[in-house]
Amino acid sequence: MTDPAMEERLLQRKIIYGPIDSRRLGKSLGVNILPTENKVCSFDCLYCQYGFTSAPQERRHVGGEGLPTPGQVAAALSEALPAHGDLDVLTLAGNGEPTLHPRFREICEVVVRRRNAYRPGLPVCILSNSSTVGSPEVRAGLKLLERPIMKLDAGTQQTFESLNGSRSGASLDRIIEGLSELENLEIQTLFVTGPVDNSSEQEVRAWLSHLRALKPRAVQLYTFERVPAESTLVALGAGRLEEIAALVRRQLPEADVRVFLP
Ligand code: SF4
Repeated sequence: MTDPAMEERLLQRKIIYGPIDSRRLGKSLGVNILPTENKVCSFDCLYCQYGFTSAPQERRHVGGEGLPTPGQVAAALSEALPAHGDLDVLTLAGNGEPTLHPRFREICEVVVRRRNAYRPGLPVCILSNSSTVGSPEVRAGLKLLERPIMKLDAGTQQTFESLNGSRSGASLDRIIEGLSELENLEIQTLFVTGPVDNSSEQEVRAWLSHLRALKPRAVQLYTFERVPAESTLVALGAGRLEEIAALVRRQLPEADVRVFLP
């Protein structure tokens, strides 16, 4: 169980947060469209920095109450975008899985409109766990964004369930099918070892076969750097991360493959 004080510290308390210096994205202005008191997520990843998805309000798929409306998000961006000069990216992320917002597509529309008005050319990205990518409505929102960075941590259903602890009933096959519909796809994969190991040869082979089918534009490989929900989990070493990256580069020569070390 994560120290509650740490959870308190990590949660975003407003719609707009940062800019933060992100190891993967550069200078990122964050947009949180989830509650500010707790995370809300369809997954229960063993490595989650917020701790396990245990409280009922964290498991609940968002119904809309207490969430920012598209108008509130637009107003917050109108204030924040002109105030921050030096940005690499505008990022939908925050306290859990952003695509669970019931008005996700409308939110994407207002984010892009505000960006066009105040910071044309600034890429909008999203960090998503991919659990909802089977939904056409969610995909319609994702397709509006320049950089959909989608989680794919496992090659097999068994590892997917053990590592990501899906609470949405999502199957890996359905996720792959949904991801295949996205253009500009970027894949993010967090590798771990220990009680669950998504870095074994067999698992990586299965994961690579999904990547070959999906042909993502970019692949981000990394491991956890904050205290994980499951304390026996082990961060993957730089050597194995680089080995896996070399395999991806060999199979997907067109992709921008990067390793991010803690
Ligand atoms: S998808 Fe992200 S927020 Fe959700 S449980 Fe996994 S790490 Fe935590």
